[in-house]
Amino acid sequence: MASEPTADDPETQTAQSTGESYAETAVETARRQLNHAVEHLEIDSNIVERLRHPTKVQEVTVPVERDDGTVEVFTGYRAHHDSVRGPYKGGLRFHPEVTRDECVGLSMWMTWKCAVMDLPFGGAKGGVAVNPKELSAEEKERLTRRFTEEIRGVIGPTKDIPAPDMGTDSQTMAWLMDAYSMQEGETIPGVVTGKPPVVGGSKGREEAPGRSVAIITREVLRYYDRDIEETTIAMQGYGSVAANAARLLNDWGGTVVAVSDVNGGVYDPNGLDTHAIPSHDEKPEAVTQQDVPHLVTNDELLELDVDVLVPAAVGNVLTEDNADDIEADLIVEGANGPTTTAAEEIFADRNLPVIPDILANAGGVTVSYFEWLQDINRRAWSLERVNNELESEMVDAWEDVCVAYEANDVTWRDAAYIVALSRIAEAHETRGLWP
Ligand code: GLU
Repeated sequence: MASEPTADDPETQTAQSTGESYAETAVETARRQLNHAVEHLEIDSNIVERLRHPTKVQEVTVPVERDDGTVEVFTGYRAHHDSVRGPYKGGLRFHPEVTRDECVGLSMWMTWKCAVMDLPFGGAKGGVAVNPKELSAEEKERLTRRFTEEIRGVIGPTKDIPAPDMGTDSQTMAWLMDAYSMQEGETIPGVVTGKPPVVGGSKGREEAPGRSVAIITREVLRYYDRDIEETTIAMQGYGSVAANAARLLNDWGGTVVAVSDVNGGVYDPNGLDTHAIPSHDEKPEAVTQQDVPHLVTNDELLELDVDVLVPAAVGNVLTEDNADDIEADLIVEGANGPTTTAAEEIFADRNLPVIPDILANAGGVTVSYFEWLQDINRRAWSLERVNNELESEMVDAWEDVCVAYEANDVTWRDAAYIVALSRIAEAHETRGLWP
C-alpha cells in the first residue's frame, strides 16, 4: 500500500503507486465509468463528449524558498471539469504523484459527486506535485501562499472553491484564504472550505466524509435487511475518513473487526475498541502498536471474511488481482477510486454490491457547501444543525440512487451516475451551448 493519507479527506493514488502491473489512471477510470453509465441513459452524445473533457486546466510552477535558502520549483495544477450547475468545487492535494491527468479524473468525480448530492456546484481538483512530509511547516506555508497566488485568477467564492484533500488540511486552507484575501484587499472566507471554524470553517466539516460513509453503510445494511448489530466491518485506513466512519458504526452497534494504516492492520474477530485506537491525525502510524490478537497486512485486511469492507485509505486497492478473493458481502467506498474498472466488472459478475465513492464519501463536499453558505451569510451553524442537515442530504441522495438502481438493471455505481448525469445533462440542455 502507498503512503498513509495525511488529509482529512478521501483521496486517490495514481495507479503507478499501487502495484507492479499497469493500473489505469484516475482520468481513464473516470472516462470508462462515464461511458458505462451513459449506456443506460438517453443523453445527447454531444453533451457526453463535452463531459469527457475538462473545461480548463491551469498548470503553474511554484518557486519556494527552502529553509536553507535554496529555491525549489514545484509544479501545480487546478483542473476545472464542468460548471453547468454552479461554481467549480473540489479538493487540493499535496502529493508527489499529483499529475495533470490525475487532477482531471478527480475533477470529473467531483462533478458527479456534487450532482448526485444535488449541490449547486461543478467539479474541480488541484494539487502540487510535492511530498509534504519533506517540508517544514514554514515551507508548506510558503508553498501554499505562492500556489494560491499562481491560481488566484481561476479561484474565487463564485468561481472555484478549493478544499482539503490528501496532504492538505484546515491550516493549509486558512493560509489559502489569507493569501487570497490579502491580495483581494478584503477578507473572503468563501473562497475555500475546510478552514478552521475560527476563520469561517464549519463545525463538523472534518468528520463529515467519515460520517457520510457511516450513514450510507447504515442505509445499505437496512436496504439489504441486515441488522447493524450483527454486522462485521473491515476498514482499510485509519485517517480521518476511516476513523470517523469506524467509530460511528461502532457507536451504532456495528462490530469493526479490522482497521489499518500504512504499516498494516489490526484484526480482532470479536471487535475492536475503535475509540481506543488513535487515528492518523491523533497519533500517526500507531494502529499496529495496539495490543490486539492479530496483525494483518493491508492486502490481507481486504480479503477478510466480513460483512462489509470499507476501503477508506487510497485508490486502486481493489484490482483484478484480488477481486475474486474479496469475501465481504458488501463494499462501501470511503476513498476516492479504490476499485479499478477490471475489479468492478468482477464484482458485478459476482453480484457483490459496491456502493460508490461519489455517494459514500460525499459528506465532505456537502458540509463544504454548508460552510460556503455560512461564509456568504456570515452566520455560523451549530454542530447539531450541520449533522442534522448532513443526515437528511445523505438520506435524500441515497433514496434518489435507490430509485435509479431499482428502475434500471445496473450496478450501484451506474445508478449514482444515472442520478448525477441526468441532472447535469438537463442543465446543459436547458442552458444550451454558447455562443
Ligand atoms: N476533497 C474532498 C472530496 O474528494 C472534498 C472536496 C470539497 O469539499 O470541496 O470529496
